[in-house]
Amino acid sequence: MKTATSKQADIRFRVELKSRPHIVVYQVRSSDDTQTYDVTVVSGKVNNCTCKSYKPCYHMHDVQAHEDARRQAIAAQAMNELAAEIKAAVRPIDERGSLNHTQRGFQLMR
Ligand SMILES: [Zn+2]
Repeated sequence: MKTATSKQADIRFRVELKSRPHIVVYQVRSSDDTQTYDVTVVSGKVNNCTCKSYKPCYHMHDVQAHEDARRQAIAAQAMNELAAEIKAAVRPIDERGSLNHTQRGFQLMR
């Protein structure tokens, strides 16, 4: 087994396939900058890499870390939006009668 842990994958692109929403392909540049490998991610888990090295290679490791961080960021953002939405929706009891006049409290954020 190679000691490839010190290397860092040079991730260039993240490609989502519209026809297959569970599959994401990352394009990673080789360390000598001569080739591009495709790292496939299926339902959030790294599945394969097209490079020739022993699997799991550092491309797969780094892409998994990248994908995990991305998912956590999305989840954190969703939680922040939800918290803001709840905060905006909560009114003191004596103001609840005004909800019919302001739609703001029930507006869904996108
Ligand atoms: Zn690889």
